[in-house]
Amino acid sequence: AHLDRIGAVDEKVHAFLHVDTEGALSAARAVDAKRAAGEELGPLAGVPLALKDVFTTKGVPTTAGSKILEGWVPPYDATLTRRLKDAGVVILGKTNMDEFAMGSSTENSAYGPTGNPWDLSRIPGGSGGGSAAALAAYEAPLAIGTDTGGSIRQPGAVTGTVGVKPTYGTVSRYGLIAFSSSLDQGGPCARTVLDAALLHEAIAGHDPLDSTSIDAPVLPLVAAARQGAGGDLTGVRVGVVKEFAGEGYQAGVMQRFNESVEILRGLGATVVELSCPSFSYALPAYYLIAPSEASSNLARFDAMRYGLRVGDDGTRSAEDVTALTREAGFGPEVKRRIILGTYALSSGYYDAYYGSAQKVRTLITQDFARSFADVDVLVSPTTPTTAFPIGERADDPMAMYLADLCTIPSNLAGNSAMSVPCGLAPEDNLPVGLQIIAPAMADDRLYRVGAAVE
Ligand code: GLN
Repeated sequence: AHLDRIGAVDEKVHAFLHVDTEGALSAARAVDAKRAAGEELGPLAGVPLALKDVFTTKGVPTTAGSKILEGWVPPYDATLTRRLKDAGVVILGKTNMDEFAMGSSTENSAYGPTGNPWDLSRIPGGSGGGSAAALAAYEAPLAIGTDTGGSIRQPGAVTGTVGVKPTYGTVSRYGLIAFSSSLDQGGPCARTVLDAALLHEAIAGHDPLDSTSIDAPVLPLVAAARQGAGGDLTGVRVGVVKEFAGEGYQAGVMQRFNESVEILRGLGATVVELSCPSFSYALPAYYLIAPSEASSNLARFDAMRYGLRVGDDGTRSAEDVTALTREAGFGPEVKRRIILGTYALSSGYYDAYYGSAQKVRTLITQDFARSFADVDVLVSPTTPTTAFPIGERADDPMAMYLADLCTIPSNLAGNSAMSVPCGLAPEDNLPVGLQIIAPAMADDRLYRVGAAVE
């Protein structure tokens, strides 16, 4: 049924870069056979899923939205891919994304933009716009994204779906094509908080193949979602971050956000306003740290090891072939970030740029720690505005970067955060997201509060 749905609508939505019809059908048949044999199956056995094209899939093309990886077929599965397969999840295909996950609209994909199913002339968010659009268009009931600065939560917010950035280190990055290794984190996308919890439990857990993986038990997320669905938040302390409001925030977004805060109060939570002054510097710090790490990570795309190779006619040096391949294979935003990052890390500038950004990162972590001494979760709008029209911010990187104003602090600090739908903005009838932020290793709180307000 989902493959049929993809066939019917994806020409318009363009959520998928690759649909693996054969793989999906054979995975579904394998689950059927196990069921027929009386084998005990997990809760996700046979459930279809759309996978962001940044996770490697053995034998299935993986591009990270880039021309430089066009035609590359990975010889191995990412740990996350493997865990999905082990759970009996049916991977329908790979979803569209901003090239190397750099962007907030999926317009930076080398393979053309994805439309927002609420209004196809608008962006579905990014970088994981394909995964969010697949959910909103009912092409898949579950999806996977990655969140480096907001790429799970912001697409969730603008498509009316649920997106969770797990605590850094709790979902393996092995086989996740790296953008900014100290920020990247895979996570679940779904249409309900309970669905997200089921998927989150399936992908989380220690992985010796990822050196930053935390060796700790997976939290009881499904139980927390079930508890929250009961609607009682008595004793839960909620902090409203003062800095996430004001100029640049759409009136209808603030209206729905303020209503959500009243709903939380009505469910028994105590609500206080608090200030995290360092959050004002999160965006500039992120746009030094993320490009710096990207400039290092993307050095591996040298035309020798993977994918595209341009100008290798027997007359040119390896260096010239590398240069020609990168010129042809990387899009403008990727080039911009590599240049920015290389500059920020260069001798003589390192302390002024990268070093300062790392200090801001520490201040942000301290602001979170101070806040979480007083409250259990923080809340804010997920994004300052609803989905904007395709093309509106394409030539203005600064305007595009503002989409992640509220999501970036959690990546810099490594804690967990969720976006859950909280209604439509009255002025444009487009979805608004409520962001819930919890401390590191307390992702279960997101599910309790998220399930109570959804
Ligand atoms: N929009 C942000 C960026 O362009 C975040 C992207 C992400 O989370 N992958 O870097």
